[in-house]
Amino acid sequence: MTKLTFLGTGTSQGVPVISCGCWVCTSPDSRDKRLRTSALIETEGITLVIDAGPDFRQQMLRENVQHIDAILLTHEHKDHTGGLDDVRAFNYTSGKPVDIYAEERVQKVIKKDFDYAFAPNPYPGVPEINLHTIDERPFQIKGVEIIPIRGLHFKLPILGFRIGNLAYLTDFNHITPEEIEKIKGVDILVVNALRKEQHLSHFTLSEALHLSYLVGSRLTYLTHISHQMGRQAQEEPALPNHCYMAYDGLKIETRD
Ligand SMILES: [Zn+2]
Ligand SMILES: [Zn+2]
Ligand SMILES: [Zn+2]
Repeated sequence: MTKLTFLGTGTSQGVPVISCGCWVCTSPDSRDKRLRTSALIETEGITLVIDAGPDFRQQMLRENVQHIDAILLTHEHKDHTGGLDDVRAFNYTSGKPVDIYAEERVQKVIKKDFDYAFAPNPYPGVPEINLHTIDERPFQIKGVEIIPIRGLHFKLPILGFRIGNLAYLTDFNHITPEEIEKIKGVDILVVNALRKEQHLSHFTLSEALHLSYLVGSRLTYLTHISHQMGRQAQEEPALPNHCYMAYDGLKIETRD
């Protein structure tokens, strides 16, 4: 069984957007308050976090996360990496560096943005990070197999992950039939759906629903949602039966 907690389900600016007075940003519904997209995965005795955006600290506190085995990064955009300084807290409690799995190109950006953490004689108390290089090939963390799924985010090649019977794809706007094969028939598909209108680098609602159809998942949850999507209470009932809009704090698990 794979358990997933949605740590954040909002697009890069989060919802509400600073200084926006729109219908969605002023919603009183807590489900319309979306931190930056991230997920906590618990499976076979290990705990993983996918992406660590600017809301990482708040997300770890809200879900009372005491220990993580690793962080997987989908790509280098700030809404997925901006919170990495706060892994320091886990360094203190575990007495160990935090293991972070990312592609070569993503690691370059991490080393630039958090250069102080990789300095030869770092200032005391900087985040301690162990970088592990991944690519399209499956890899293991403490015996648990992770299958990377390649997608495009406009022109940027990024990774989603299949863990057990759950697939998590965020910031995709293109995926090849070969990659879809790797997630066909998963119990749960999590996929980004920014809004209804076309977008350069993200699946729209209809594109995400079409992918769900191609994958044939039992359940599909949408994430990385913009304020342009509409309010949860109005939009979710219009989705196909097996599809849901995720919201922050929602917990789901695969049936196996
Ligand atoms: Zn993003
Ligand atoms: Zn708004
Ligand atoms: Zn992105």
